Amino acid sequence: MTSEPKNWKKQTQLVRGGLDRSPNRETSEALYMTSGYVYENAEEAEAAFRGDTDRFVYSRYGNPTVRMLEERLAILEGAEACRMTGTGMAAIFGALACQLKAGDRVVASRALFGACYAIVAHILPRWGIETELVDGRDLAAWEAALSRPAKLVFLESPSNPILQLVDIKAVSELAHAAGALVVVDNVFASPLYQAPLELGADIVTYSATKHIDGQGRLLAGAVLGKRDFVEKVFLPFYRQTGAVVSAFNAWVMLKSLETLELRVAQMTANAGRLADWLADQKLVEALAWPGHPSHPQYDLACRQMSGGSSLMAFQLPGGKGQAFAFLNALQLIDISNNLGDAKSLACHPASTTHMNLTQEERDALEITDGHIRLSVGLEHSDDLIADLEQALQAAC
Ligand SMILES: *Cc1c(COP(=O)(O)O)cnc(C)c1O
Repeated sequence: MTSEPKNWKKQTQLVRGGLDRSPNRETSEALYMTSGYVYENAEEAEAAFRGDTDRFVYSRYGNPTVRMLEERLAILEGAEACRMTGTGMAAIFGALACQLKAGDRVVASRALFGACYAIVAHILPRWGIETELVDGRDLAAWEAALSRPAKLVFLESPSNPILQLVDIKAVSELAHAAGALVVVDNVFASPLYQAPLELGADIVTYSATKHIDGQGRLLAGAVLGKRDFVEKVFLPFYRQTGAVVSAFNAWVMLKSLETLELRVAQMTANAGRLADWLADQKLVEALAWPGHPSHPQYDLACRQMSGGSSLMAFQLPGGKGQAFAFLNALQLIDISNNLGDAKSLACHPASTTHMNLTQEERDALEITDGHIRLSVGLEHSDDLIADLEQALQAAC
């Protein structure tokens, strides 16, 4: 191979990126189930702890299997460096907390995953960090909030659960002018359909629990960005606070990544068929899928995303009663708050993922009692449409 991994196509990066074979020359990535590492002599241990040599010392700091996964994801994302964490929330919390202190100011889009919302709205303010939430769709609101200096901007696009978009390029420019770094939670787009770093963001986070594992087996997260940020700012926080992922889970994800493109492409194609079908149903309101021309920010989706996401949301006019009747009538699609899975999953955000918000907070996010979030999986789209059809009829 003459080309560098960063110049490979994504499919090649997903299968071969970061592969580091042991002297046994195994085909598949090796699983290093070890918490520690040994030294030939005391001098070698001392040199390792002084940082004079580059080697593994303890798996809370690093592990060869985890390292392969970090390299593979960094190559895929076009990032200089990556660290994997035990959950998506550990990635997001670490990416924020490692660089914030009392007195700092954070501006974030209001439409965030429930736990991310809790960090920004409740946990950070308790520690003397000023946080301001804006309507992420409204550039004028970002401009007003960023007319004062800020340390950090945090956003999610498309957002959970109703797939609102933020103009990552425009917001990154405003953020940088205000002195802030931009952190993007890129779960809904997946690393395949949106490249926040190319759009101007500084740090990207994932819940790898979602499409990256994609088969409902484990929890994990990732933080990606410039080498200086990852190694000098994030790493000291990460190593001391124990956000690390297990080697076994990292190994499962290395195998998962081999099929990420196949899975996400098929899930997204299925989502496209379902969106077309749902758009024609009388009962279905406020369909939100970024790949469908009916999405209010379809132009922005075309500019910053290269695929429509495997997630969508829609609303039923009869509120919670009708939403529950619809969910209870589903025969194939499971009721679950997870997403990005091979199995299609549906949930009622107002009573599950976003139940900890007040009614006013949900109103501000436009999450209604009639909203359903759908994560489209790998089943045949004919079977999924048949299930949606009979459930809509049952809910009438
Ligand atoms: C699931 C999710 C998270 C949290 O990830 P965990 O792996 O559950 O900790 C954060 N952001 C988004 C958008 C998510 O969907």
